[in-house]
Amino acid sequence: MNEDSKYICRCPVCGHCAEVRKYPSVNASSEPDLRLKILDGSLLRWVCPACGETTYAEYPLLYHDPGRKFMIWMVPYSAYDPNIEEYGLKVARLLPDYTCRKVDNVLRLAEKIQIFEQGASDVAVELSEYVFRQESGASGNFFFHGIRFDGGLCRELRISVVKADGGHEYYNVSPEIYTDCEAIVERNPDMKPGPGFVRVDYSWIMSKLK
Ligand SMILES: [Zn+2]
Repeated sequence: MNEDSKYICRCPVCGHCAEVRKYPSVNASSEPDLRLKILDGSLLRWVCPACGETTYAEYPLLYHDPGRKFMIWMVPYSAYDPNIEEYGLKVARLLPDYTCRKVDNVLRLAEKIQIFEQGASDVAVELSEYVFRQESGASGNFFFHGIRFDGGLCRELRISVVKADGGHEYYNVSPEIYTDCEAIVERNPDMKPGPGFVRVDYSWIMSKLK
C-alpha cells in the first residue's frame, strides 16, 4: 500500500490504533463491489480489535458514477479542504451535464446515491421532506428510503426518520407532494443548485424558502 491508500483508525474508546485500507475515490462502474459496501455502510466501518467498539474512518471520498453522470464528494467536517470549492468549479466547466453534490458522512453519501440511481431530484426530495415535516410534525433526521415512478409520475415516496433516541420510523409521503415539489423546483431558478459540489440538505432547502 502506498501512503495515499492507508488510513490510521483510532478507537475513540480505548485508543487502539490500526492501519486500514483507504479509498479516496470510488468509481461505481469499475468498482461495483465498493459501491455495494458504501450502500450497506461497511466500506468505512471499523471494529476495534482490542475492545470491539465500532467506528467509521473519516476522510474525504469522491464517488463517481460515470454512467449516470453524478459525483458526490463526502467531506467530513474534520477533513475539510478549501481546494474542493475550486475543483468543483473546474468539474462544472469540464462536465456541465454532471450533477455534483457534497455530503459530510457516509449515510448521506448512500442516500444521494440511491436518490440519483432511482432517477429522482434530490432537491425535490428535500423539499418533499420539508413539506412532510411541517404537515406531520415528525422530528428527527430524515432519510430518503425509496421512490417509485410509473409513466414518469411519482407513485410512491418512502422516507425513514431517525429519532433522537436512535429509533427508526418509516413513512410513506404522499406521491402528490413529490410531484408538486418537483414542479416547484423546475419553475424556480433559485432552487437550482449552483455549479460545483453543492451541499443540498435540509439547511439548504430552508435557506431557499426564506
Ligand atoms: Zn477499542
